[in-house]
Amino acid sequence: MLAMQIPGLIDPVPVPRASTARADGKIAIVGLTRPELIAALAAAGLDAKAAKMRASQVWHWVYLRGVTDFDAMTNIARDTRAILAEHFVVGRPEIAQAQVSSDGTRKWLLRFDDGNEAECVFIPDAYRGTLCVSAQVGCTLNCRFCFTGTMKLVRNLTAGEIVGQVMLARDALGEWPAVGVKPVVRSPDAAGDTAAGDAADFDDGDDDDDAPRRNYTADGRLLTNIVMMGMGEPLYNFDNVKAALGIVMDATGLGLSKRRITLSTSGVVPMMARAGDEIGVNLAVSLHAVTKDVRDEIVPINKRYGIDELLAACAAYPGANNARRITFEYVMLKDKNDSDDDARELVRLIRHYRLPAKVNLIPFNPWPGSDYVCSDPERIARFSEIVFRAGISAPVRRPRGRDIMAACGQLKSASEKVSRAELDRRAAEKEAGWVDAA
Ligand code: SAH
Ligand code: SF4
Repeated sequence: MLAMQIPGLIDPVPVPRASTARADGKIAIVGLTRPELIAALAAAGLDAKAAKMRASQVWHWVYLRGVTDFDAMTNIARDTRAILAEHFVVGRPEIAQAQVSSDGTRKWLLRFDDGNEAECVFIPDAYRGTLCVSAQVGCTLNCRFCFTGTMKLVRNLTAGEIVGQVMLARDALGEWPAVGVKPVVRSPDAAGDTAAGDAADFDDGDDDDDAPRRNYTADGRLLTNIVMMGMGEPLYNFDNVKAALGIVMDATGLGLSKRRITLSTSGVVPMMARAGDEIGVNLAVSLHAVTKDVRDEIVPINKRYGIDELLAACAAYPGANNARRITFEYVMLKDKNDSDDDARELVRLIRHYRLPAKVNLIPFNPWPGSDYVCSDPERIARFSEIVFRAGISAPVRRPRGRDIMAACGQLKSASEKVSRAELDRRAAEKEAGWVDAA
């Protein structure tokens, strides 16, 4: 049936993309792209010129100032503010739970308007502060070592819900400029903004000894980097992730550089070129295994897009070069993918495809019911050494926030206990769905 694929057809997105409807009928401003905001203001009755001007002012208040109340938008006429308040809202996801790890990592469980929940994690470091953002509630894929994959409920997050995670983190970190303080409009490509290395180096700053310790940026912000590595597969929610990251990168608003944003995919090959062309952020790929058998087992999307197809797509990723390497994530699972031969095969593959690559070795983070064990530290060190000796950077990641289940692969919202047999049945169902849809 796969042979019948229509050229140009991309993966079926098994979950709806529509915005979550608000009960009060108001339109949420956070998450609208600039053209959408202008159109929405025009639809609310502003003439074309006013809509454009007010959109810029609203954008400033929302994304540079963090203002949520239209009455605080003091350069907008009172009657226009009344129109705005009648039709629009500047909201935040509700915080259902907030936790802080002993290592300073923070995790928020967010509840959206329809009651669905997703998690978002902030990881402070010596040299950067990284926000790990979710793209979906749950995940349609079933990587065997990942807690998120066990969630029953799946829906895409809207662009507003994705940007909302960034807004909420800035609220919680107290990072909006105080009243009377002029906000710094950041140039996304300014040298000072890119000096602290790859966004994916979020745990111990192995290669940035010259970066300032605190505060990270000229305007003292702690949230410097974003990784799309929370719950879900971002390339199965392409349009909303693209819109959200466009807003986050807008230089007149949040202004994060594309060099400080990393999108992680489990290997949705047909969407990778578009991600590079249309979003342009750093790419991380969840490789995790170097043989078909093992990757089929632990990252089941491999049955659809195999290792060779995936690495060829990496080689063609727009924007990848030696200055902007692709990060390969590799979870260390005892006796599963951690042998010397695995390490050597990893090196061979990276060389074969001439990939500008670095490898992040992630010690497996356990979760209730998980059926793998983390490789021993000596094994991980040896694996790292083999890859490193071949001239490829292969740092071992320090797990962050394990005590509050905030580490890679430990995110899960609506808690639900399911057996392995049930998980296998669901995985088979999902795979059948892919084949049918193709
Ligand atoms: N869905 C995307 C992004 C989210 S997962 C993806 O799979 O790439 C972020 C990273 O954490 C991925 O590399 C994922 O494979 C890894 N991961 C998942 N479960 C893990 C676990 N239990 N321990 C360590 N890393 C895990
Ligand atoms: Fe989904 Fe990524 Fe977890 Fe796999 S590792 S189940 S793609 S969130």
